[in-house]
Amino acid sequence: MARALVLGQEERGDRFEGGRLAALKRLQRGKQIMAAETFDLVISGGTVVTAEQEVDADIGITDGRIAAVAPGLRGQDEIDATGLLVLPGGVDPHVHFSTIDPPGTPGWVDDFWSGTRAAAAGGITTVGNMIYPWPGQTLLQALERDRAAAERDAVIDVAFHPVLTDPATQPLSEIPTFAELGHTSLKFFMSFGGFASTPEPYLQAMRAAKDAGMLTLIHCEDAALLADAMFVLVASGRTAPQFYPESRPVTVEVAATARAAAFAEQTQAPTYVVHLSSAGALEEVRRGRARGAPMWIETRPMYLFLTEERFAEPDAGKYFGQPPLRAPSDREALWQALARGEIDTVATDHAPWLYADKTAPGLDITTIPPGVADLDVMLPLLWSEGVISGRISRQRFVAASSTNAARLLGLYPRKGTIAPGSDADLVLWDPADSRPVRAATFASNSDYSPYEGWPVTGWPRMTISRGEIIVRNGQVDARRGRGQVPRRERIKSL
Ligand SMILES: [Zn+2]
Repeated sequence: MARALVLGQEERGDRFEGGRLAALKRLQRGKQIMAAETFDLVISGGTVVTAEQEVDADIGITDGRIAAVAPGLRGQDEIDATGLLVLPGGVDPHVHFSTIDPPGTPGWVDDFWSGTRAAAAGGITTVGNMIYPWPGQTLLQALERDRAAAERDAVIDVAFHPVLTDPATQPLSEIPTFAELGHTSLKFFMSFGGFASTPEPYLQAMRAAKDAGMLTLIHCEDAALLADAMFVLVASGRTAPQFYPESRPVTVEVAATARAAAFAEQTQAPTYVVHLSSAGALEEVRRGRARGAPMWIETRPMYLFLTEERFAEPDAGKYFGQPPLRAPSDREALWQALARGEIDTVATDHAPWLYADKTAPGLDITTIPPGVADLDVMLPLLWSEGVISGRISRQRFVAASSTNAARLLGLYPRKGTIAPGSDADLVLWDPADSRPVRAATFASNSDYSPYEGWPVTGWPRMTISRGEIIVRNGQVDARRGRGQVPRRERIKSL
């Protein structure tokens, strides 16, 4: 297992981009077997784009799964995709949807209904939601709470990451049960006080997760450094939004990322760094990987598209996230790492609020809630700023927005690719559609976007989930509760 998880850059490339021969064989087999068959649905005339290759082919879908990828297919229903690209549906491993909030707790403004509609509108067909146990709940109780909410409301498929916040009341003995139930990940925050005061149980949790074939997600900001930075700012009265970057400087992320690398190295637990934002933190993962730490990296749209000068704007609260926006040199380092495959995934970290929640008079760096709503526009922005601008290839786009996350979630090749046997989770992508971001059109309940008015080229024309058309031309038409909670494989099968 250790060998399989200690990935040098070459192996990482092979693992995520290999399988080309197998894919070609599947295509040829499809041509031979499927010629006479009639499928439920055929998507014809498009260019099929995966993380490995592109091929002009039709896609035959039966019973919600891809049955063939070959020319000349016939179906009971047919969609003409001439001039369009057909991509695997996006897999966004990092979102925050509210369920029923405990009394007195202000929550994110999307639940599984509006949140998964926003994802679908943006070309995403699977999301991974963070589960926070309420005070006194165990992780399994929180899982059942969110599973019920997702099965009632979700329109696309949902994975869950339970968040370990209090090992005193959330017994680590539950961790193997998650994997048995098909939920193969666990998250914790180095920025939380509980971790800072007593970190040992989190190392034990990582070992338990590793032994159960689970991925450990870590929020890398150091709690002591955060507290000290905030103390200095509050003591000197510098709490206006413009001071936000100083409250969570790069040092805070670098220190925690170095520690996460050491945790990963010592436990050999597969470790996923969420929302990495800086060149310094990237360098710590490089060092960890070079020592054999099994690590993967996620970044998010804000760090690829925006930089810290934004905090000088009068409504700077709308840019607040944890970590904050960084310097232009950090942004450039992230793009290069994404292009090279050192960054594995781009996830929204969708944490939706209303504009007023973020910018009301009197709010300051101690009270502005973190997070933005990006599900409706992450893929179009990544296409426009990444592929159209020449920073990343189409294959890298698919790898970072779908395939790699599907692997890390234990859902590949059911999700994250276009091949016979895979779920028919597809996006018909119009690479020439050019129009600006307008939050007023969002399916999310959030009412603003940090990218309002940005020109974007490349938008989803249609989103298909398990063979059902759930979005056409931006209009979501999906039955509430049609989403499923797929059983995920243990990560040792990566
Ligand atoms: Zn998050």
